[in-house]
Order: sequence, then C-alpha cells, then structure tokens
Amino acid sequence: DMGRVAESLGYGAYVVGGFVRDLFLYRPNEDIDIVIEGDGIAFAKAYALEFGTRIHTHKAFGTAVVIYPDGFKIDVATARLEYYRSPAALPDVEMSSIKLDLFRRDFTINTLAIQLIPDKFGRLLDFFSAQKDIKDKAIRVLHNLSFVEDPTRVFRALRFEQRFGFTIGKLTAALIDNAVKMDFFKRLSGRRVFTEIRLILEEDNPVPAIVRMGDFDLLKVIHPTIVINKALIALLEEVRGVIAWHDLLFVETPCMRWTVYLMGLIHANDMATCHEICRRLELATRYEALFCQERAAADHCLQQMEHRLPASAGALYHRLHPFRAELILYMMAATRVKAVKKAISKYYTELRKIEPLIGGNELIALGLTPGPLFRQILDAILDAKLNGALATREDEIQFARR
Ligand code: ATP
Repeated sequence: DMGRVAESLGYGAYVVGGFVRDLFLYRPNEDIDIVIEGDGIAFAKAYALEFGTRIHTHKAFGTAVVIYPDGFKIDVATARLEYYRSPAALPDVEMSSIKLDLFRRDFTINTLAIQLIPDKFGRLLDFFSAQKDIKDKAIRVLHNLSFVEDPTRVFRALRFEQRFGFTIGKLTAALIDNAVKMDFFKRLSGRRVFTEIRLILEEDNPVPAIVRMGDFDLLKVIHPTIVINKALIALLEEVRGVIAWHDLLFVETPCMRWTVYLMGLIHANDMATCHEICRRLELATRYEALFCQERAAADHCLQQMEHRLPASAGALYHRLHPFRAELILYMMAATRVKAVKKAISKYYTELRKIEPLIGGNELIALGLTPGPLFRQILDAILDAKLNGALATREDEIQFARR
C-alpha cells in the first residue's frame, strides 16, 4: 500500500537499512524504515488520510512516523536531492537520490533497499556490495572519510561486529586506528559518546565488544585509566552471569543492565575519577550519584560483609535494604567470596520483599494509640519475620499484643 500511495504522488519508495540487512541474516527486526524519493512528510500525510493512521512529523528533518492503531510504527524519511557534502567524500558522479541516501549510511551492510512501487515491488537495490559483505561477514565503511564525518560510527562498527559475529574489514580497521590516534572523539559531546557506549552495554552480550574497544584502545574515550586485563574481563563476565540470573528469575523487574556493566568497567577507579567519567559522559545527576556515592557505599558494604557475614537474616536485610537492584547485582558480581554472593542472592530472592502483614489499623484495633511506638512495633515484627519467627497474620497480632 505504501508503494501505491507513493506512486500516486510520483515518488519512489523503499524499505532500507537494518530491516533489509536482518532479512538477509535471518534475524527478527520490527523496525521498518522507509525512504521516500520526494516529500516524505507529504507521503505520510497522504497515507494517513487513506488508512486512518496517526502520524508524527519532523519538518526540519523531513521525517515522519506512521502509527497504526495497534501501536506499530513505521519510520518514513525523505531522500533529499540537495545534499551537503563533506569535502571529497563524494565522487563527482550523478547519483539517484536513493543512492545518495544510502551512500550517507554507516556501513555497506546497512545500504540494501527494497523497492515498494507496485511495478518494481520487491526488487533489491545493492549499490555498495552489501550482499557480498554480508556473505563475507564483514563490517566496512563506504568511504575513507566515514569516521571523519561521524566518529560515533566507530562504536557502531564494534557493536555490529559482535552482534552479528562479523569482522571489521582491514581498511575499516585501519581507519578506526587512525580515528583513535587522531582522537576524533574529543569533538563529540559527552551525550553522543554516552549514547553509543550505552547501546553497546545494552547488547545481549556486551563483553566481546568491550574487549574489542580495549583492542582498539578505545576505552580511553571513557577514561585513560580503564584498561582491559584478565581481572576486568572476569568481572564483566560475572556481571553478565548475574544479569542472566536476574533476567531468568525476575523477568518482570526492570533493571538498567548498562549501569551494572558500567559500574564493572569503572570498578577500580577512585571517587574523583568516577566523577570525572560521569562529567565526561554528561550523565544526569541521578546517574552520577549511582556511579559515585552509591557505588562507593556498595563497595564499602561489600568489604564489611567479606570481613564478616551478617549474623542473622535480619542483619543481612538491613545491610542490603538501602541498595537498589542494580547495586545489589553489582555487589554480587564484584565479590570474590562465595558465601557473600550467596547471602546477597538470599537477600534478593527471599528477604527483600518481606514486610509485616499488619499495619497501623490493626495496632489501633488492639487498642494502641498511634505514635512512635507503632514504628518500633512494626520494625520488631519485620525483624521477627525475617528471622523466621512469624508466619501468619495471627502470629503478628499475637506478637504485637506482647
Ligand atoms: P539497531 O538494531 O541497533 O537499531 P539499525 O541498523 O536498525 O540497528 P539504527 O541505529 O536504528 O540501526 O539506524 C537505522 C539506519 O540508519 C541504519 O541501518 C544505518 O544505516 C543508519 N545510521 C544510523 N546511525 C548512523 C550513523 N551514525 N551514520 C550513518 N548512518 C547511520
């Protein structure tokens, strides 16, 4: 239908990028990107009018999002003819606007396009030997100035390489070495560096890409003190194990996995350096608190627990209760003492959610007067419960009475 609507306006229409790439890789992908040769916004409006979908438009970029009643979204972009070229990046030959659009992309594997116009429906466009590179499992840029144009592509290269089990091509690897040597990243905002690092840390298994960042001497983009060694890799693998454990047991509990990996990465740094890293990445203050003060508190707590395990379930609960899930996972990964890891996992799986079944109303019903005593009684009930002394509501009421 999109092809037909585009044709009626005299436009070309294509599915492009990651979706087509993933078709060739037999990988599921729900992100459909459409490029229109013509006016993408006018196309989206015409389409929405005919099919009753909602749209969001961004005039400045000539892009639109088509939103179906069930929430499914399709991104629409305009292949602009006028194209601000970076010096010498473009060979001086005539290109169709779709070809120009694809030439601006990051890697050859992302340059496939499928025609949507009814006459040519389903035809594959492969201007930059994407199929060959997919077959060769190679990540290659389209031209030598690619990383000059956009240094964030370096991070994308590592991310795609590990996600697909591909290898960065020889010339592309040399261009990355050059980008690192010339420190192209210093002109990137913290925000953009952070976005890319976070995307890497949110991959299914980020560890190989982090190791690869180490190979390319790229971890200095986070901080020069971070170096890949056996201990760091072991810690990151622990993080991965703990996150897998968490995903399995607590499917419904959200967890910012990237923060746990980043805590692992900066594990060996002192407080001042951690603050420096957070500022370089332009992290929000709540993240800065997490990575600096809260993580330091977690390290301190861990040290104490490694010195001596909490004597009771109640003591364990009170030790760990101040920490949010991500810090608990970090502590489980960071400790080298098995018994401590076990205690933390016991807290997280068994103790964390325990609370008194009765509350103020029940205490009033017992004839008590509301006041500071209530807190004390409820705390005492909690401790008794944690240590397994109270099971039912009736037990708690008896306990309160005493
Ligand atoms: P993911 O599964 O990570 O979303 P994707 O390939 O769909 O992978 P997006 O980040 O959604 O990637 O980008 C969509 C398309 O836009 C990509 O296929 C790529 O060709 C292009 N693109 C994204 N970022 C850049 C960039 N920095 N430089 C050039 N092209 C880019």
